[in-house]
Amino acid sequence: MNVRPQVPKSKKEKEILEFIHERQGEAGIFYCLSRKETEEWSQFFNQNGITSKYYHAGLASSDREEIQDGFIRDQYAVICATIAFGMGIDKSNVRWIIHNNLPKNIEGYYQEIGRAGRDGLPADTVLYYNYRDIILLNDFVKDSDFKEVYQEKIRRMVHYGEAASCRRNIILSYFGESITEPCGNCDNCSQPPTVLMEQKLPRLRFLQFHAVIKRPEST
Ligand SMILES: [Zn+2]
Repeated sequence: MNVRPQVPKSKKEKEILEFIHERQGEAGIFYCLSRKETEEWSQFFNQNGITSKYYHAGLASSDREEIQDGFIRDQYAVICATIAFGMGIDKSNVRWIIHNNLPKNIEGYYQEIGRAGRDGLPADTVLYYNYRDIILLNDFVKDSDFKEVYQEKIRRMVHYGEAASCRRNIILSYFGESITEPCGNCDNCSQPPTVLMEQKLPRLRFLQFHAVIKRPEST
């Protein structure tokens, strides 16, 4: 479980291509917030020699079925998808999940990353996000009757992204499970960030973070 906030686009593209090339022949899902982004990223992967399809609710159901089947049969390495993808897909050898944007809640995020490594073999997840995602997500829910509930869920997701402690334990505690030893596998366990300043987070002020931290530069 890795989290990469505020990575500029060109650097992000380079990182992601390297990540996928290191996993040649392995399947993964690339989750995006918008349909347009799934199409753009899929095109980007195909241009760089990675077989990819995009998937979102705007496609005809026959196309969606064809893409799902192709992914299950290892015909495509990467599916760039909105959250519409994954439900009912039984594929045990998905080796990685990348989130291109901040998910809207921990429930969805947990379900999505749970689609990797169902065969029990190691799998990787990377979450990319930037401040624009946080603004967009809050904008989506601003007219909802349950606005405050949704905003609180977004805020918890931001906390997860900004956290300096074990990611697995943050998720376990979110679901009310008892926390055990740190997992030793997530980015915070394997490369602990330096906490420069602790901040108290005012409710619903999503642009102020729990802590100001410095992460080790990844190569
Ligand atoms: Zn951990």
